Amino acid sequence: MIAPASAPLSGAMSRVTAYGHGISAIDADYLRPGLAAIHLIVEGNRAALVDAGTSSSVPAVLQALEAGNLAPADVDYLFLTHIHLDHAGGAGEFMSRLPNAKLVVHPRGARHMADPARLIASAKAVYGEAEFNRLYGTIRPVDAARIIEAPDGFTLDFHGRPLLFLDTPGHARHHYCIFDRENRLFFTGDTFGLSYREFDVNGMEFVFPTTTPVQFDPVAAHASVERIMSYDPVYAFLTHYGRIGHLSAHAAELHGLIDAHVAIARKLRGASDRHAALVKEIQELLLQRILAHGCQLPHEEICELLSLDVGLNAQGLEHWLDQADGR
Ligand SMILES: [Zn+2]
Repeated sequence: MIAPASAPLSGAMSRVTAYGHGISAIDADYLRPGLAAIHLIVEGNRAALVDAGTSSSVPAVLQALEAGNLAPADVDYLFLTHIHLDHAGGAGEFMSRLPNAKLVVHPRGARHMADPARLIASAKAVYGEAEFNRLYGTIRPVDAARIIEAPDGFTLDFHGRPLLFLDTPGHARHHYCIFDRENRLFFTGDTFGLSYREFDVNGMEFVFPTTTPVQFDPVAAHASVERIMSYDPVYAFLTHYGRIGHLSAHAAELHGLIDAHVAIARKLRGASDRHAALVKEIQELLLQRILAHGCQLPHEEICELLSLDVGLNAQGLEHWLDQADGR
């Protein structure tokens, strides 16, 4: 079944995109519009959220619920695809506003949501103290009694809508993806890459992998993409950003780009300014692919849209190289 074409809702809710199947993307208000989405799933008169953005994302989500005639008490679940802070940073704040919600998280992530001290420390190591405070503000712990762990194969009946949770490492070891069986839809967090709507050409999306520190694992990343595809999904909903189709084509491109990232990392293993060299080559790789895809944006604008991810991908590859060297 094909869902209706995506259409932004009018007026004040233009930052919400409705996709059909009771699913919409709410802009998480993270760094720039269109960078991070929180997906809302509505079944009957009950709601669930996929990912939590940051504490700054709360007002937009409450507004979107209200526009859909839903109260905060109507939200039963907050699903965290993984616990990187652009997905999980707002979880504590959300849980304080959503009185009936349970937090569903990968078993490797659960204790860090109840006690976020280590999560905060590792994010500060990636971003630095000042940038961390600017991006994430205060991270609140979640009451352990409200946390449900979702191991591989965990299923949940969301008011007659079966949801299957799959362990999908590669981007992070605390990552699950959610398969909506009846509609053949996947909520893929960061496992099926990133796809910004600015790079769409005639309805065709451009998708690229994220190799963020500190758990990038190319073998697992390939396997997770294949595992997602083995369910023959029609659409994937990416946290960065929204719904994509053409999944077979994107899976092939993702495999190729994961290998290309690894090849760049191996080539530059001993480079004198390794980080700068990685940034330059990854940027060039993605720029050339986006131009070949048919994107007409000026080069500078493409590079600007990519700059955050290129920097993170370079950092993640460096970490991966250092780990491999240490073995
Ligand atoms: Zn992530």
